[in-house]
Amino acid sequence: ATFKQLGVSEHFIQALTELNIIKPSEIQEKAIPYLLKNQNDFIGQAQTGTGKTAAFGLPLLMKVNPKSKEVQALILAPTRELCQQIAKHLFKLTKYAPEKIFVEAVYGGEKIDIQLRALSKPTQIIVATPGRLIDLLARKAVDLGAVKTLILDEADEMLSMGFKDELDNILRQTPHDASKWLFSATLPSALQKLVDTYMAKNTHTVQ
Ligand code: AMP
Repeated sequence: ATFKQLGVSEHFIQALTELNIIKPSEIQEKAIPYLLKNQNDFIGQAQTGTGKTAAFGLPLLMKVNPKSKEVQALILAPTRELCQQIAKHLFKLTKYAPEKIFVEAVYGGEKIDIQLRALSKPTQIIVATPGRLIDLLARKAVDLGAVKTLILDEADEMLSMGFKDELDNILRQTPHDASKWLFSATLPSALQKLVDTYMAKNTHTVQ
């Protein structure tokens, strides 16, 4: 299939072409049309390097309303490097978007003041490590009330790094009707438990 056949808008295809992303990868073929058409929760079993960022990034960017300046999506990832990488990839994908979409990455290891200042400006997509997001929520620097999509990237990694309590806390603070998209290389029992607690019974799984 082509990205066009998967339902991806022309301006994203232009950006993808510049990134030398021409033919959809397996996870992209499975995830993109499903996430564009359905509000259901979703589990994508995929390793790094399989193109999973664009697999969730493209449907997410098509779902975000650029006119609304509220935080509409939250992406959680285990490390600072991955957060930066995701935010950069999303930014590049929006190069030809008719309206700007604001993405901010926040993570531990950087002065929180810098991130507080960044978040005082309109942000539609936040990419965060769980620990730092908890700090920012406690300081009321982030409001999850308008979140429509919550993405857990490398969910198994976040659990093995000890972020279980943080994930519980964030999932509890996320609106119940938000779609949850989970990407993970493996589905260990601790992760399955999280899925059973917070994700819908009719969650769609692909691998
Ligand atoms: P990811 O798995 O999302 O971290 O992506 C790994 C790398 O593959 C990134 O450098 C992407 O730009 C690239 N990539 C993503 N999708 C494709 C694709 N369909 N074809 C070729 N490269 C891709």
